Amino acid sequence: MFSYRHAFHAGNHADVLKHTVLIAILKHLREKDAALVVLDTHAGAGLYRLDGDYASTSGEAADGILRLVAPAPAPSPAEGRKKAAVPAEPLAPALQDYLDLVASFNTGGAHRVYPGSPFIIQGLLGDRDRLKLFELHPTDAKTLSANIAQLEAGRTVSVLREDGFEGIKKFLPPPARRGLVLCDPSYEIKTDYARVAEMVADALLRFATGTYVVWYPIIPRPEAHDLPKKLKTLAQRAGKPWLHATLTVKNSKLLTDAEGEVQRPGLPASGMFVINPPHTLKAALKLALPQLVEKLGQDKNAAFTLDSGT
Ligand code: SAM
Repeated sequence: MFSYRHAFHAGNHADVLKHTVLIAILKHLREKDAALVVLDTHAGAGLYRLDGDYASTSGEAADGILRLVAPAPAPSPAEGRKKAAVPAEPLAPALQDYLDLVASFNTGGAHRVYPGSPFIIQGLLGDRDRLKLFELHPTDAKTLSANIAQLEAGRTVSVLREDGFEGIKKFLPPPARRGLVLCDPSYEIKTDYARVAEMVADALLRFATGTYVVWYPIIPRPEAHDLPKKLKTLAQRAGKPWLHATLTVKNSKLLTDAEGEVQRPGLPASGMFVINPPHTLKAALKLALPQLVEKLGQDKNAAFTLDSGT
């Protein structure tokens, strides 16, 4: 039933945006000394090899995380003289946090392993917190369980081979009324778009003060275009603050190569919609997003947007 495997896409520009935002939110939520429950509705396999078969086939990390960690190209002697007086801009703290976390899964400066959302979240939680991971794909659920078992995290982390859209209901509201829901479907089924909005509407009724984080692809499809609008309406109806960040790395049009063959451009852009974001998130992304455009942008269409409201 499911053909999507995140291993082909791990570490791509969408993961960079998604995981940078996720880390910035979690770091803020962890500052309070009270138990936090995190629900990851679409968890994936948890850990990915960037030098493995899947990732090597698609090479998507090369245009994502690997661009961020690559040293800047050496300037020509003439450029070097001109630029000598201008020190390189330091990385935005949110991007540095993201790179530090990914680096902690690797040794010797190489980037062979990429942590998916389960390991990113788990790495930022404390002993009192709880993480519930939903994954439906039989192979990925098995891999996820095996990866999580190695952590020996006991009751802190649970893997549920269940539908994440439905499964989160039983955990809302969390006992200490502190919670984050990450919703990151593959959208391979068109109905996922509607299910995301339905899930958020229902979750806001159960737990209005939770932080809801939704990733979505920006592609020429009406459902994808409408999703952030629907989420904004839900937040406004609930009287809750929201934040919407998007990152475009390239042109979305189909291109024709020299032989007249139509080239699929791959995912050109994606967005993160957050309901009840930490008050620090917008300022953090204001610094990070222009640097992501500069480092991950592939053509003149590269851009970001950052909106928020109540
Ligand atoms: N969140 C992961 C990360 O950031 O590393 C990536 C998740 S990937 C985009 C989406 C995953 O959702 C896939 O592994 C897919 O098998 C799984 N999936 C699809 N439909 C699902 C559902 N209804 N409930 C739970 N998992 C589902």
